[in-house]
Amino acid sequence: MHQLNFISKRNLEWMEVDSPIISDEHSVLIRPLTVATCDMDGLAIQGIVPFPGPTPIGHEGEGVITEVGSGVSKWKVGDRAIIPWKIACGSCKSCQRHHSAQCLTVPSEDAYGWGVPIPKWGGFISDTVLVPWADTMLTKLPEGVDPLLACGVADNISDGYRAVAPHLKERPGGTVLVTTAVAPGSIGLYAAGIAVALGAEKVVYADTSQTRLEIAATLGAEPIFLTKDAIKKYATDKRSLDGGFDITVDACGVPEIIPELIAATSRAGVCVSTAGVIYRGNPLPFDVYSMYRKSISFHTGWVHTHSFIDESLGLITSGQFDPSPVTTKVVSWDDAADALIEPFTKIIISRSQ
Ligand SMILES: [Zn+2]
Ligand SMILES: [Zn+2]
Repeated sequence: MHQLNFISKRNLEWMEVDSPIISDEHSVLIRPLTVATCDMDGLAIQGIVPFPGPTPIGHEGEGVITEVGSGVSKWKVGDRAIIPWKIACGSCKSCQRHHSAQCLTVPSEDAYGWGVPIPKWGGFISDTVLVPWADTMLTKLPEGVDPLLACGVADNISDGYRAVAPHLKERPGGTVLVTTAVAPGSIGLYAAGIAVALGAEKVVYADTSQTRLEIAATLGAEPIFLTKDAIKKYATDKRSLDGGFDITVDACGVPEIIPELIAATSRAGVCVSTAGVIYRGNPLPFDVYSMYRKSISFHTGWVHTHSFIDESLGLITSGQFDPSPVTTKVVSWDDAADALIEPFTKIIISRSQ
Protein backbone atom coordinates (compact mmCIF):
# COMPACT_ATOMS: atom_id res chain seq x y z
CA MET A 1 0.00 0.00 0.00
CA HIS A 2 0.98 3.68 -0.34
CA GLN A 3 2.27 5.33 2.82
CA LEU A 4 3.70 8.83 3.25
CA ASN A 5 6.96 8.92 5.20
CA PHE A 6 8.99 11.70 6.77
CA ILE A 7 12.58 11.23 5.55
CA SER A 8 14.45 14.34 6.71
CA LYS A 9 14.04 18.12 6.89
CA ARG A 10 11.53 19.23 4.21
CA ASN A 11 11.72 15.81 2.61
CA LEU A 12 8.72 13.46 2.50
CA GLU A 13 8.34 10.37 0.33
CA TRP A 14 5.52 8.03 -0.62
CA MET A 15 6.67 4.46 0.05
CA GLU A 16 5.24 1.11 -0.92
CA VAL A 17 4.83 -0.99 2.25
CA ASP A 18 2.93 -4.12 3.30
CA SER A 19 -0.67 -3.54 4.35
CA PRO A 20 -1.32 -4.34 8.02
CA ILE A 21 -3.51 -7.35 8.75
CA ILE A 22 -5.87 -8.03 11.66
CA SER A 23 -3.47 -9.14 14.38
CA ASP A 24 -5.97 -10.38 16.96
CA GLU A 25 -9.71 -10.61 17.55
CA HIS A 26 -9.92 -7.17 19.20
CA SER A 27 -8.45 -5.23 16.25
CA VAL A 28 -9.97 -3.48 13.27
CA LEU A 29 -8.54 -2.12 10.01
CA ILE A 30 -9.34 1.46 9.03
CA ARG A 31 -8.94 3.36 5.77
CA PRO A 32 -8.00 6.93 6.85
CA LEU A 33 -10.09 9.58 5.08
CA THR A 34 -9.29 12.79 6.97
CA VAL A 35 -5.88 13.48 8.50
CA ALA A 36 -4.79 16.73 10.17
CA THR A 37 -1.20 17.71 10.82
CA CYS A 38 -0.03 17.66 14.42
CA ASP A 39 2.19 20.55 15.55
CA MET A 40 4.95 18.01 15.95
CA ASP A 41 4.77 17.15 12.24
CA GLY A 42 5.62 20.77 11.42
CA LEU A 43 8.42 20.85 14.00
CA ALA A 44 9.97 17.72 12.46
CA ILE A 45 9.42 18.63 8.80
CA GLN A 46 10.89 22.11 9.21
CA GLY A 47 13.83 20.69 11.24
CA ILE A 48 12.99 22.76 14.35
CA VAL A 49 13.00 19.59 16.49
CA PRO A 50 15.12 17.05 14.60
CA PHE A 51 13.79 13.49 14.40
CA PRO A 52 15.29 10.52 12.56
CA GLY A 53 13.63 9.28 9.38
CA PRO A 54 12.24 7.45 7.62
CA THR A 55 9.12 7.27 9.73
CA PRO A 56 5.45 7.05 8.70
CA ILE A 57 3.65 10.36 9.23
CA GLY A 58 0.12 11.34 10.29
CA HIS A 59 -1.47 10.63 13.67
CA GLU A 60 -4.54 12.87 13.95
CA GLY A 61 -7.59 11.80 12.00
CA GLU A 62 -10.54 9.60 11.19
CA GLY A 63 -11.52 6.98 8.67
CA VAL A 64 -13.85 4.19 7.65
CA ILE A 65 -13.63 0.70 9.15
CA THR A 66 -12.84 -1.89 6.48
CA GLU A 67 -12.38 -5.09 8.52
CA VAL A 68 -13.38 -6.13 12.03
CA GLY A 69 -11.88 -8.75 14.36
CA SER A 70 -14.25 -11.41 15.73
CA GLY A 71 -13.96 -10.11 19.32
CA VAL A 72 -14.91 -6.51 18.50
CA SER A 73 -18.42 -5.66 19.72
CA LYS A 74 -18.87 -1.92 19.05
CA TRP A 75 -17.84 -1.60 15.41
CA LYS A 76 -18.84 -2.88 12.00
CA VAL A 77 -17.49 -2.44 8.49
CA GLY A 78 -18.46 0.97 7.10
CA ASP A 79 -18.52 2.81 10.47
CA ARG A 80 -16.65 6.12 10.64
CA ALA A 81 -14.32 6.43 13.63
CA ILE A 82 -11.86 8.93 15.09
CA ILE A 83 -8.47 7.34 15.83
CA PRO A 84 -6.46 8.83 18.75
CA TRP A 85 -2.73 9.28 18.19
CA LYS A 86 -1.61 7.08 21.10
CA ILE A 87 -1.99 3.33 21.42
CA ALA A 88 -3.76 2.39 24.67
CA CYS A 89 -5.23 -0.92 25.85
CA GLY A 90 -8.11 0.54 27.86
CA SER A 91 -7.74 -1.93 30.73
CA CYS A 92 -4.34 -1.56 32.44
CA LYS A 93 -3.90 0.40 35.68
CA SER A 94 -2.97 3.58 33.77
CA CYS A 95 -5.85 3.33 31.30
CA GLN A 96 -8.33 2.64 34.11
CA ARG A 97 -7.13 5.86 35.75
CA HIS A 98 -7.75 7.69 32.44
CA HIS A 99 -4.00 8.12 31.88
CA SER A 100 -4.09 6.57 28.42
CA ALA A 101 -0.95 8.29 27.11
CA GLN A 102 0.95 6.21 29.66
CA CYS A 103 -0.70 2.85 28.90
CA LEU A 104 1.37 0.15 30.61
CA THR A 105 0.52 -2.63 28.15
CA VAL A 106 2.52 -1.15 25.27
CA PRO A 107 6.00 0.45 25.12
CA SER A 108 5.72 4.09 26.20
CA GLU A 109 6.33 5.53 22.74
CA ASP A 110 3.86 3.32 20.86
CA ALA A 111 1.77 5.70 18.76
CA TYR A 112 0.81 6.31 15.16
CA GLY A 113 3.18 8.26 12.92
CA TRP A 114 5.16 10.74 14.91
CA GLY A 115 8.77 11.73 15.61
CA VAL A 116 10.01 8.34 16.76
CA PRO A 117 10.10 5.70 14.01
CA ILE A 118 7.58 2.99 14.98
CA PRO A 119 6.84 1.18 11.71
CA LYS A 120 4.62 -1.31 13.57
CA TRP A 121 1.69 1.14 13.81
CA GLY A 122 2.35 3.16 10.65
CA GLY A 123 0.94 6.62 10.00
CA PHE A 124 -2.51 7.83 8.96
CA ILE A 125 -1.43 9.12 5.54
CA SER A 126 -1.64 5.59 4.17
CA ASP A 127 -4.22 3.21 2.73
CA THR A 128 -4.81 1.10 5.85
CA VAL A 129 -4.18 1.42 9.58
CA LEU A 130 -4.40 -1.32 12.20
CA VAL A 131 -6.23 -0.35 15.41
CA PRO A 132 -5.81 -2.69 18.40
CA TRP A 133 -8.33 -2.79 21.28
CA ALA A 134 -10.78 -1.13 18.89
CA ASP A 135 -13.72 -1.13 21.32
CA THR A 136 -11.92 1.27 23.69
CA MET A 137 -9.46 2.94 21.28
CA LEU A 138 -11.96 4.42 18.83
CA THR A 139 -14.58 7.17 19.05
CA LYS A 140 -17.56 7.36 16.71
CA LEU A 141 -17.57 10.24 14.24
CA PRO A 142 -20.98 11.71 15.09
CA GLU A 143 -23.60 11.63 12.34
CA GLY A 144 -23.72 14.87 10.39
CA VAL A 145 -20.49 16.29 11.83
CA ASP A 146 -17.96 17.51 9.28
CA PRO A 147 -14.83 15.35 9.64
CA LEU A 148 -12.75 18.42 8.71
CA LEU A 149 -13.89 19.97 12.02
CA ALA A 150 -13.79 16.83 14.13
CA CYS A 151 -10.57 15.09 13.09
CA GLY A 152 -8.31 17.28 15.27
CA VAL A 153 -9.80 15.89 18.49
CA ALA A 154 -7.60 12.84 17.85
CA ASP A 155 -4.70 14.91 19.16
CA ASN A 156 -4.17 18.71 18.99
CA ILE A 157 -7.73 19.90 19.79
CA SER A 158 -7.82 17.56 22.80
CA ASP A 159 -4.37 18.89 23.75
CA GLY A 160 -5.66 22.46 23.66
CA TYR A 161 -8.74 21.34 25.61
CA ARG A 162 -6.78 19.70 28.44
CA ALA A 163 -4.62 22.84 28.77
CA VAL A 164 -7.60 24.93 29.87
CA ALA A 165 -10.87 23.01 30.37
CA PRO A 166 -10.15 20.92 33.52
CA HIS A 167 -8.57 23.99 35.15
CA LEU A 168 -11.47 26.28 34.22
CA LYS A 169 -13.83 23.75 35.79
CA GLU A 170 -11.93 24.27 39.08
CA ARG A 171 -11.85 28.04 38.52
CA PRO A 172 -15.21 28.92 36.92
CA GLY A 173 -15.04 32.06 34.79
CA GLY A 174 -11.27 32.18 35.28
CA THR A 175 -8.75 34.19 33.30
CA VAL A 176 -6.39 32.60 30.75
CA LEU A 177 -3.09 33.61 29.15
CA VAL A 178 -1.85 31.46 26.24
CA THR A 179 1.62 31.85 24.71
CA THR A 180 2.77 30.52 21.35
CA ALA A 181 5.93 31.24 19.37
CA VAL A 182 7.21 28.32 17.34
CA ALA A 183 5.25 27.19 14.25
CA PRO A 184 2.93 25.41 13.57
CA GLY A 185 1.27 26.58 16.82
CA SER A 186 -2.21 25.09 16.46
CA ILE A 187 -2.43 23.78 20.06
CA GLY A 188 -2.17 27.23 21.65
CA LEU A 189 -4.84 28.58 19.29
CA TYR A 190 -7.18 25.69 20.17
CA ALA A 191 -6.52 26.31 23.89
CA ALA A 192 -7.39 30.01 23.50
CA GLY A 193 -10.51 29.32 21.41
CA ILE A 194 -11.75 26.63 23.79
CA ALA A 195 -11.18 28.91 26.81
CA VAL A 196 -13.35 31.55 25.10
CA ALA A 197 -15.99 28.91 24.29
CA LEU A 198 -16.03 27.75 27.91
CA GLY A 199 -16.77 31.24 29.18
CA ALA A 200 -13.40 32.34 30.56
CA GLU A 201 -13.67 35.91 31.82
CA LYS A 202 -10.58 37.03 29.90
CA VAL A 203 -8.42 35.19 27.35
CA VAL A 204 -5.17 36.82 26.26
CA TYR A 205 -3.25 35.17 23.42
CA ALA A 206 0.44 36.13 23.04
CA ASP A 207 2.39 35.13 19.94
CA THR A 208 5.15 36.31 17.60
CA SER A 209 3.22 35.34 14.45
CA GLN A 210 0.90 37.97 12.98
CA THR A 211 -1.04 35.24 11.16
CA ARG A 212 -1.78 33.33 14.36
CA LEU A 213 -2.57 36.55 16.27
CA GLU A 214 -5.26 37.27 13.69
CA ILE A 215 -6.64 33.73 14.03
CA ALA A 216 -6.71 34.15 17.82
CA ALA A 217 -8.71 37.36 17.43
CA THR A 218 -11.17 35.49 15.18
CA LEU A 219 -11.53 32.91 17.95
CA GLY A 220 -12.43 35.67 20.40
CA ALA A 221 -9.14 35.99 22.30
CA GLU A 222 -7.32 39.26 22.94
CA PRO A 223 -4.13 39.13 20.83
CA ILE A 224 -0.84 40.65 22.00
CA PHE A 225 2.65 40.38 20.55
CA LEU A 226 4.75 37.94 22.62
CA THR A 227 7.85 39.38 24.27
CA LYS A 228 9.36 38.76 27.67
CA ASP A 229 8.36 42.27 28.71
CA ALA A 230 4.79 41.82 27.49
CA ILE A 231 4.37 38.82 29.81
CA LYS A 232 6.32 40.50 32.61
CA LYS A 233 3.70 43.26 32.62
CA TYR A 234 1.17 40.73 33.98
CA ALA A 235 3.39 39.55 36.86
CA THR A 236 1.61 39.56 40.18
CA ASP A 237 2.64 42.25 42.59
CA LYS A 238 5.25 40.80 44.95
CA ARG A 239 3.75 42.38 48.04
CA SER A 240 0.03 41.80 47.55
CA LEU A 241 0.34 38.87 45.11
CA ASP A 242 -2.73 40.26 43.37
CA GLY A 243 -3.27 39.99 39.63
CA GLY A 244 -2.02 37.50 37.07
CA PHE A 245 -4.02 34.82 35.27
CA ASP A 246 -5.74 31.81 36.80
CA ILE A 247 -4.44 29.64 33.95
CA THR A 248 -1.28 30.25 31.93
CA VAL A 249 -0.40 28.06 28.96
CA ASP A 250 3.07 27.49 27.60
CA ALA A 251 2.52 26.42 24.01
CA CYS A 252 5.48 28.59 23.03
CA GLY A 253 8.53 26.47 23.82
CA VAL A 254 10.70 29.49 24.69
CA PRO A 255 12.68 28.80 27.91
CA GLU A 256 13.11 32.51 28.75
CA ILE A 257 9.33 32.99 28.78
CA ILE A 258 8.66 30.32 31.44
CA PRO A 259 9.78 32.32 34.52
CA GLU A 260 7.67 35.27 33.29
CA LEU A 261 4.71 32.98 32.68
CA ILE A 262 4.94 31.55 36.19
CA ALA A 263 5.23 35.10 37.60
CA ALA A 264 2.08 35.96 35.61
CA THR A 265 0.14 33.05 37.14
CA SER A 266 -2.20 34.13 39.92
CA ARG A 267 -2.56 32.71 43.42
CA ALA A 268 -3.75 29.07 43.35
CA GLY A 269 -3.36 29.20 39.59
CA VAL A 270 -1.96 26.66 37.18
CA CYS A 271 0.64 26.82 34.43
CA VAL A 272 0.22 24.15 31.75
CA SER A 273 2.99 23.37 29.26
CA THR A 274 1.98 21.62 26.04
CA ALA A 275 5.36 22.43 24.46
CA GLY A 276 7.42 19.73 26.18
CA VAL A 277 8.85 18.26 23.00
CA ILE A 278 10.57 21.56 22.19
CA TYR A 279 12.46 21.42 25.50
CA ARG A 280 14.11 18.08 24.72
CA GLY A 281 17.67 18.39 26.08
CA ASN A 282 16.99 21.91 27.35
CA PRO A 283 16.06 22.02 31.08
CA LEU A 284 13.73 24.82 32.20
CA PRO A 285 14.38 27.33 34.98
CA PHE A 286 11.78 27.15 37.75
CA ASP A 287 11.28 29.42 40.72
CA VAL A 288 9.77 26.73 42.94
CA TYR A 289 9.63 29.02 45.98
CA SER A 290 7.40 31.56 44.21
CA MET A 291 5.16 28.70 43.05
CA TYR A 292 5.00 27.36 46.61
CA ARG A 293 4.28 30.81 48.01
CA LYS A 294 1.38 31.29 45.58
CA SER A 295 0.18 27.64 45.52
CA ILE A 296 0.79 27.40 41.77
CA SER A 297 0.73 24.01 40.03
CA PHE A 298 2.68 23.18 36.89
CA HIS A 299 1.28 20.56 34.50
CA THR A 300 2.94 18.99 31.49
CA GLY A 301 2.99 15.65 29.66
CA TRP A 302 1.53 13.93 26.65
CA VAL A 303 -2.19 14.53 26.38
CA HIS A 304 -4.33 11.62 27.61
CA THR A 305 -6.43 11.98 24.47
CA HIS A 306 -8.86 9.18 25.30
CA SER A 307 -9.98 11.10 28.39
CA PHE A 308 -10.70 14.38 26.61
CA ILE A 309 -11.88 13.33 23.16
CA ASP A 310 -15.60 13.12 24.04
CA GLU A 311 -15.66 16.52 25.76
CA SER A 312 -13.68 18.35 23.07
CA LEU A 313 -15.79 16.69 20.37
CA GLY A 314 -18.91 17.78 22.25
CA LEU A 315 -17.83 21.42 22.07
CA ILE A 316 -17.54 21.10 18.29
CA THR A 317 -20.77 19.17 17.68
CA SER A 318 -22.73 21.62 19.86
CA GLY A 319 -21.34 24.55 17.85
CA GLN A 320 -19.73 26.09 20.95
CA PHE A 321 -16.25 25.86 19.42
CA ASP A 322 -15.41 26.16 15.74
CA PRO A 323 -11.81 25.03 15.06
CA SER A 324 -11.92 25.93 11.35
CA PRO A 325 -10.14 29.35 11.60
CA VAL A 326 -6.99 27.43 12.65
CA THR A 327 -6.90 25.36 9.45
CA THR A 328 -4.42 26.77 6.90
CA LYS A 329 -5.86 24.71 4.05
CA VAL A 330 -7.46 21.43 3.06
CA VAL A 331 -5.55 19.43 0.43
CA SER A 332 -6.20 16.26 -1.54
CA TRP A 333 -4.48 13.00 -0.64
CA ASP A 334 -2.19 13.17 -3.70
CA ASP A 335 -1.04 16.69 -2.80
CA ALA A 336 -0.08 15.83 0.80
CA ALA A 337 3.69 15.46 0.23
CA ASP A 338 4.02 18.84 -1.52
CA ALA A 339 1.71 20.67 0.89
CA LEU A 340 3.38 19.45 4.09
CA ILE A 341 6.87 20.74 3.27
CA GLU A 342 5.60 24.34 3.26
CA PRO A 343 5.07 26.14 6.60
CA PHE A 344 1.55 25.71 8.01
CA THR A 345 -0.55 26.16 11.13
CA LYS A 346 -2.77 23.17 10.32
CA ILE A 347 -3.18 21.26 7.06
CA ILE A 348 -5.98 18.75 6.64
CA ILE A 349 -5.56 15.99 4.07
CA SER A 350 -8.87 14.70 2.86
CA ARG A 351 -10.40 12.15 0.48
CA SER A 352 -13.98 11.10 0.01
CA GLN A 353 -13.50 7.34 0.00
ZN1 LIG B 1 0.71 14.86 17.82
ZN1 LIG C 1 -3.45 0.50 29.01
